[in-house]
Amino acid sequence: MGWLIKGALIVPLSPLAGEAEENPWFTGDIAVAEDKIVAMAADLSADIPALTAKYGELTTIPAQGFIAMPGLVNAHSHSVMNLFRGAGDDMSLEDWLFQRIFPLEDKLDGAAAAIGAQSAVLEMIGSGTTSCCDSYFFMDEVAQVMLDSGIRANLGRGLTDAAGPGSGAGRLAEAEELFKKWQNAGQGRIKFWLAPHAPYTCSDAYLQEILAKAAELQVGLNIHVAETRTEFNDSLAKYGMTPVERLNSLGLFDQVPRVPVLAVHCVWLTEDDRRIFKEKQVSVVHNPQSNLKLGSGIGQIPALMAAGVPVALGTDGAASNNNLDLWEEIRAAALIHKGERHNPTLMPAAQVLQMAGPIGAKAIGFPECGTLAVGQKADIILVDLDQPNMRPLINPISQLVYSAGPANVDTVMIDGRLVLRKKEFLTLDKERILFEVQKKADELLKD
Ligand SMILES: [Zn+2]
Repeated sequence: MGWLIKGALIVPLSPLAGEAEENPWFTGDIAVAEDKIVAMAADLSADIPALTAKYGELTTIPAQGFIAMPGLVNAHSHSVMNLFRGAGDDMSLEDWLFQRIFPLEDKLDGAAAAIGAQSAVLEMIGSGTTSCCDSYFFMDEVAQVMLDSGIRANLGRGLTDAAGPGSGAGRLAEAEELFKKWQNAGQGRIKFWLAPHAPYTCSDAYLQEILAKAAELQVGLNIHVAETRTEFNDSLAKYGMTPVERLNSLGLFDQVPRVPVLAVHCVWLTEDDRRIFKEKQVSVVHNPQSNLKLGSGIGQIPALMAAGVPVALGTDGAASNNNLDLWEEIRAAALIHKGERHNPTLMPAAQVLQMAGPIGAKAIGFPECGTLAVGQKADIILVDLDQPNMRPLINPISQLVYSAGPANVDTVMIDGRLVLRKKEFLTLDKERILFEVQKKADELLKD
């Protein structure tokens, strides 16, 4: 049993080797069996007997007039925070966090968290995101939602010991329990990494404890780094080091055996910080709209990429964005650096799509996703070209970066399973989720 996606305009997002390929797209067919792409070519008609003999019946999905491309990778989200969409806007990060978000978080429970996460996966799947990297608390409930929805997710329980020595021990123990319970659930769709919140909310001793646990469990680290100027300046004042230098001095990037590190935001980096990231093979997540909305600034992403650091894209939580639409991040990433540096050749479209595809997938621990190729996981979306914003079609890469949006996403397949078809959700009850997320937000915001 499998699928034959027939006659699509295929944009495989093969990793760029040196100069961009001239025409990195073609019209053709994709055969999917179980969770993988088993064949892909301009015309698979002649191969159908052999494919069905090997894999069983293939159901045809007619795809003329659609782009078939890898599902988008949202490398930084806080799904539960969908509950707080619009709860505090146009405020400083400190006021936003202390006056709005923390009091709301105090009222959260597992049931509320699950509804927030359902609202987030509804939004992600509906807009073509097939994998995410999500951290927060109530992650047991979040993991269940992610598993049931069909999405692919790298999850992490946020870790801090900001309340004093020893205050983070329970959280780290919980993170290990979550790892034991969920690691590789859903045939590998669910992963747990360790998610120390940020250098400024974790002591040196706690970071080293987390590091030792990551090396023991052989899982990656997902940490917010250098998001604001305040964080950067405070680190210099307190430690005489930038946030990145401090993490480096603690050995966070030198675990033996090595585990991947995902550094989120990185708005405030020095040239030395960029060199450290390159040397230590750290990946970065760029969240352009969250950084703009909270007034954090514009990270020097072109310089980071020129230094050879892989940079993925994320939305951050819906409380600071305020949506989980990765198309907007793609467009923002392609635009803001051009404007800021007065240089329209920066962040070319093909490079930005790589960030939302193969670079992102690899950075969050799913290297078998993010491109369309035989043997890769079948995380595929169909983008409708017969829409007002998509014609005429001259260059598909340009169209996907500068014109497309969530309204163009027609079909979403994750791990070979259809989760959205002709804009209908197949694993999620949209009406119930919309009703319940409103009800829960009303309850949380009362008094
Ligand atoms: Zn975040």
